[in-house]
Amino acid sequence: MAEILKTVEAMDRALALLEAGQVVAIPTETVYGLAGDATNGEAVARIFEAKGRPRFNPLIAHVSGKVMASEIAVLDPLSEKLAQAFWPGPLTIVLPLLPDAPIHPLVTAGLSTIALRMPQGFAAQLIARLGRPLAAPSANSSGKISATSAAAVEADLGARIPLIVDGGRTEVGVESTIVKVEGETLRLLRPGGIAAEVIEAVSGQSLVRTGGAMVEAPGMLASHYAPGTALRLEATAVMPGEALLAFGSIRALGSDQALSILNLSPSGNMREAAANLFAHMQALDRTGAATIAVEPIPSTGLGEAINDRLRRAAAPRS
Ligand code: AMP
Ligand code: MG
Repeated sequence: MAEILKTVEAMDRALALLEAGQVVAIPTETVYGLAGDATNGEAVARIFEAKGRPRFNPLIAHVSGKVMASEIAVLDPLSEKLAQAFWPGPLTIVLPLLPDAPIHPLVTAGLSTIALRMPQGFAAQLIARLGRPLAAPSANSSGKISATSAAAVEADLGARIPLIVDGGRTEVGVESTIVKVEGETLRLLRPGGIAAEVIEAVSGQSLVRTGGAMVEAPGMLASHYAPGTALRLEATAVMPGEALLAFGSIRALGSDQALSILNLSPSGNMREAAANLFAHMQALDRTGAATIAVEPIPSTGLGEAINDRLRRAAAPRS
């Protein structure tokens, strides 16, 4: 069962767990977050595992201030103005990711953009002490509503995580508002804790609403990272000219002729496989192989999200 500590006594324990690549449920002003070190792939994989999320959607990275944000993403003048007005607070801004940003690709689901937010209170102090951003979706299992108290987190995730930091009821009680600047357009990607009108007043322009389904909506799927190279799933043999995305200790037939082989996890560890998924797909995409053959991966635990992502990457593109 999860240990539950009040914010005044939780800092050192939370830091030690995050340093060790574990996940911790923390209070933010919006809802409780399930936080992990955004630079550590296995920590981020644990977030998906604990939530039982069937797919890898991009997570919000939480920063302690503008300096940390500027090490991760490029802030255009309008985004800068919004950050100035609403940080710390319930506004998330989607921004172009810097190529050398210390963010694990599982956080962004391989996208070249990243959702950033600076929270208030304990969460901000924790991130500042850690010196690294925290990836943190809401602290609830997939399909359940967001938790606004430590007791709600405990009832749902208590058996799966080591620590819940109790900061009482969250102030805002709904998720952050998500916006994105696209050229001259300011887009509302998700309504949330800061009203659209308030953002419009500060920005001096109206928000373009795109509906709440976000990148998970079928129409947005093209914006997800998809390799240029075709993928062939459930491959038990390697064809000439193919690269191989391997899993586990048993190789597909003819693997010695593969143009290149990368193994998601030689020991068959799902957490390691999840952490390697995007980087390995990208690396094999660059080999110039005709096709990337992908060995069968069991659908247990994180395997469901891994296979979901592979199926999307393998789907025919228009
Ligand atoms: P959660 O962390 O569970 O509150 O969800 C984060 C939300 O932010 C999801 O709706 C994501 O689809 C969205 N999101 C995160 N990163 C991006 C991004 N790079 N581009 C667009 N939407 C994003
Ligand atoms: Mg959520």
